[in-house]
Amino acid sequence: MVEMKNVNVHYASGVDALVDVNLRINDGEFVFIVGESGAGKSTLMKLMMRELAPSSGRVFVNGYNLSKLKGNKIAKFRRSIGVVFQEFRLIQDYTVYENVAFVLRIADKSNRYIRQRVPYVLNLVELGQKARSKTHDLSGGEQQRVAIARALANDPGLLIVDEPTGNLDPRRSYELVGLLKEINLCGTTVVMITHEHNLVQDFGGRIINLEEGKITFDQTIGGITDEGE
Ligand code: ADP
Repeated sequence: MVEMKNVNVHYASGVDALVDVNLRINDGEFVFIVGESGAGKSTLMKLMMRELAPSSGRVFVNGYNLSKLKGNKIAKFRRSIGVVFQEFRLIQDYTVYENVAFVLRIADKSNRYIRQRVPYVLNLVELGQKARSKTHDLSGGEQQRVAIARALANDPGLLIVDEPTGNLDPRRSYELVGLLKEINLCGTTVVMITHEHNLVQDFGGRIINLEEGKITFDQTIGGITDEGE
C-alpha cells in the first residue's frame, strides 16, 4: 500500500518537483506512473523508497509512516519493498545466483531458506538455467530479469520498477510488462514508472500521469493487447 497526502517536494535549487500530490495505491494493484522527462516521476519514486523526505505532507508505504522511520526500522521497511533500477545495479563479477543470494544474506536469512528461495525467484523470471553464469556474460534483458529476481528475493509487498523498457525493443518491452503483470497476479503490488505512453495505453490498467509535479490524470483504462484488462 502506498498513500501520499498533500505531498510537496521543493528542491533547494528552487524547483517544485511535486505539488500537492495525493494518491493511494492499494495492495495488489498494478499501476503505471507516466510523465515526460522532468515531470517528477523519479522524485515520486524516491519518496516511496524513503530516499527523500517530502518538504511537506505525509507518505505511508506498506503500513510504515515514512517520516517517522528511524534506525533499524528503515532497513526493515526497505525489505518490504523491491526496487528495479534503470541501470540494474548488479554486481557484475558475481554469478546470477550470488546477486540474489546476497540480499537474502544481508537480511539474515538461513542458508537453507536461501537455497530454496534463490532458485524459486530465478525460475519466476525464467533464469533458472543461468544461475551459475557471471552477470557480465548476460544480455541486457537477462540482467534486467536478474535485477527483478533480486528485487523479489525478500518477497516484498511492493515492487517499484523504474523505466524498465528504456533500452528494450518493442517486443521485449511487451514481454517485460507481461512478466511484471504475472508477478502482480502472484500478489505483489507493482508500480512501473515509464515515459512510454503508447505501451501503457496498449496494456491499459491504472495510469497516473504527472505533469510539472502535479497528478493530472489517475484512471483505469482498457487496453488493446491480450494482456490488457
Ligand atoms: P522525472 O523523473 O519525471 O524526469 P524528476 O523527479 O527527476 O522528474 O525531476 C522533477 C524536477 O525536479 C525537474 O525539474 C528536475 O530538474 C528537478 N530535480 C530533480 N532532482 C533534483 C535535485 N536533486 N535537485 C534539484 N532539482 C531536482
